[in-house]
Amino acid sequence: MAAVELLLKRGARVRAMDERPLSPEEQAKFDAVGVRVLPQLPENIDTQRGAPDIIVLSPAVPYDLPMLVAARARGIPVIGEIEIASYFLKGPVIGITGSNGKTTTTALTGHLLKQCGIACQVGGNIGKPMTSIVDSSDECQWNVIELSSFQLESIDRFRAQIAACLNVTPDHLDRHYTFEGYASAKSRLFETQRTGDFAVLNYRDPTCRAYASRTKAEVYWFSSSEKVPRGVWMNGHELWFDGGPFLNRSRIKLRGMHNVENVMAAALMAWLAGATWEGIASAAESFPGVEHRLEFVRDVEGIAYYNDSKATNVDATLKAIDAFPEPLWIILGGKDKGSDYTPLAAPLQHRARAVLLIGAEPPYAHAAAPLITAALQDAVPLVNCGTLASAVKYAREHAAAGDVVLLAPACASFDQFENFEQRGNTFKQLVAGLF
Ligand code: ADP
Repeated sequence: MAAVELLLKRGARVRAMDERPLSPEEQAKFDAVGVRVLPQLPENIDTQRGAPDIIVLSPAVPYDLPMLVAARARGIPVIGEIEIASYFLKGPVIGITGSNGKTTTTALTGHLLKQCGIACQVGGNIGKPMTSIVDSSDECQWNVIELSSFQLESIDRFRAQIAACLNVTPDHLDRHYTFEGYASAKSRLFETQRTGDFAVLNYRDPTCRAYASRTKAEVYWFSSSEKVPRGVWMNGHELWFDGGPFLNRSRIKLRGMHNVENVMAAALMAWLAGATWEGIASAAESFPGVEHRLEFVRDVEGIAYYNDSKATNVDATLKAIDAFPEPLWIILGGKDKGSDYTPLAAPLQHRARAVLLIGAEPPYAHAAAPLITAALQDAVPLVNCGTLASAVKYAREHAAAGDVVLLAPACASFDQFENFEQRGNTFKQLVAGLF
């Protein structure tokens, strides 16, 4: 919708297509701007006037749909929403990708820049489409853009003066088929950079390391464990840059070493955009975190409840487990994305009192619960709860003071919820109602 509005404003003649029939509210939005929405069929690509000049994809649409492959073969450019926005966007771009931590790091980078008096606006995958922030863009203002692999697979000329990749772990294999396909979608961000640009990469991540050889940008590294050739690293409890400390870990409010990594990446990007290390350190201290990401909900008689509904893959859940030394009651399950759950077995064996399973059950084709059961049954007690309400109730009845109840499901939410936000809000409501 944001892309349609931008194109109309710039004088394009626009038609839209969707595989799914629109809701009355959606239809009304298109009616209001006078755009026809057709069923997504190959015969609807051409108009009475002939072939379209350009096809713009919403990030949810696979780049390799047969009708799009056919269109490209006919010479019709097929581009993404990010690419079309970049033709009109003013000002330099900070582009942030990674399997996990994008939203947190994007919000944090925007926060650091603003606190340091550097003008910026934040958008992209974080919830404000890039096409919707074109009008408010300005030559003297940074655009801090969160980018998913879906958004990056179709870029061509879009370029970030500062680009970061936080990590690359298996995710979305239902759409990218192989890890290599997924990793190379993300690598597009670095391939379109030019000499004089900057790349910020995770030194510990082998895929990020490989990106260094695919970019013309100057590379800065971050690492939570070892000294890096150039960049930010963790020395004991201090974050170091260029031979000296600039921030003590205790000043960072967010839980977990993964969030320290997010701070390191954001700090480097803010510094490359002109912020000072003193400014960055005090701004990092005042960052409150983002809703649904290891969000503290409530303490009920010494039992702490945390909402990490955004943990929609195994790596994010591993990071969440790692952030809690306390005994855990962890809620797992939902819609499976082709994940391997066995890496959860060892840490849960040590940390978890039990796993509370939620999610749709077979015959639902993507039920994660049976797969999680197969992967974890020898390691940790499993309780089949089915719904979030039963899981919260079970935890309330069995947890003891000092325990943590953690929603970090390692799965998508679409089997039982609209999205991860609704899953997180449901959890928070259930917890608010406990006594
Ligand atoms: P994204 O936008 O990439 O999905 P979010 O900031 O929304 O990232 O966080 C998604 C999930 O990943 C949350 O569960 C969060 O706690 C976890 N997470 C955040 N940063 C990292 C990181 N650097 N490495 C691994 N997991 C992370």
